[in-house]
Amino acid sequence: MTLKGIKKTYLKKLFRVNFKKNDRRMDIFTEHISVSVEHLSETLLQNLTEQKVGVELSFFAKPDNLEPGKLKEKIVEYKSLLSGFSGKVSMHGSFTDLNPTTRDPKLLEVCNFRIRESLEIASELTLAKIVFHPNFFPSTRSEYKEYWIEKQIRFWEKHLHLLQSEGITMYLENTREEDFSYILPIVKALNSPFVKICYDTGHSNCFTVFKVPPAEWVKAYGDYLGYIHLHSNHGFTDDHIAFTKGNVNFGGFFEAVNALINSPEMIIEVKSSEEYELSLQALRKRNLQ
Ligand SMILES: [Zn+2]
Repeated sequence: MTLKGIKKTYLKKLFRVNFKKNDRRMDIFTEHISVSVEHLSETLLQNLTEQKVGVELSFFAKPDNLEPGKLKEKIVEYKSLLSGFSGKVSMHGSFTDLNPTTRDPKLLEVCNFRIRESLEIASELTLAKIVFHPNFFPSTRSEYKEYWIEKQIRFWEKHLHLLQSEGITMYLENTREEDFSYILPIVKALNSPFVKICYDTGHSNCFTVFKVPPAEWVKAYGDYLGYIHLHSNHGFTDDHIAFTKGNVNFGGFFEAVNALINSPEMIIEVKSSEEYELSLQALRKRNLQ
């Protein structure tokens, strides 16, 4: 056993601590607020430390950033940048053009490859939380919803082993799903402590016909909900503006979030630093830590 191993075992016995993959992220903060960021820098991380805000990495979700040579370099760079950061760190996994319910086996291979690749990056960076999209695309085929849910379960269950062995929890996020009744049965059927839900407050407003209010999503998801992407829009395009703007109906939303037994991570997912500052100030005013 290595010295590190001995120390860990000793500490485990002493404090009965359940050590997980992201031990080094046993953060100094108790807050649950993070911000989604594509390009990390030392200055940015310093600012976040002062604000006691965590970070969700969106860099590795973009296909242009996944070219093999560039990717290795970036992982090394991000590892070094994050080594001095004590806040929470999570990651957005690949989603662009991915369709886990595709009928084409070749396209399915690409989907599986991208999901595995995202999990390997998260593991390299010792992260414990990652977001993926089931990417529902509406269809007029009869009983399509049931078919889609079943195919989603079959797709994600192939990745459960890796999630478990790497100690990574994945959060499935809504895009065009009309309401909570699409992702909830998938997560329930997967029945794993490593599978939870990410609710995106903007997507349910601009991508859906019925625009079910955020409070209803939160109440229906209950404690399957572990992660929230917080932003708004005007109901037509995915603008990613501060939640204080736009026409998302946030009535009862924060009360519903506060009523959950386990507080979900609240990720401010907006397009500019101005929208971020507005969001953060508004959350602080609500005493949301
Ligand atoms: Zn989102």
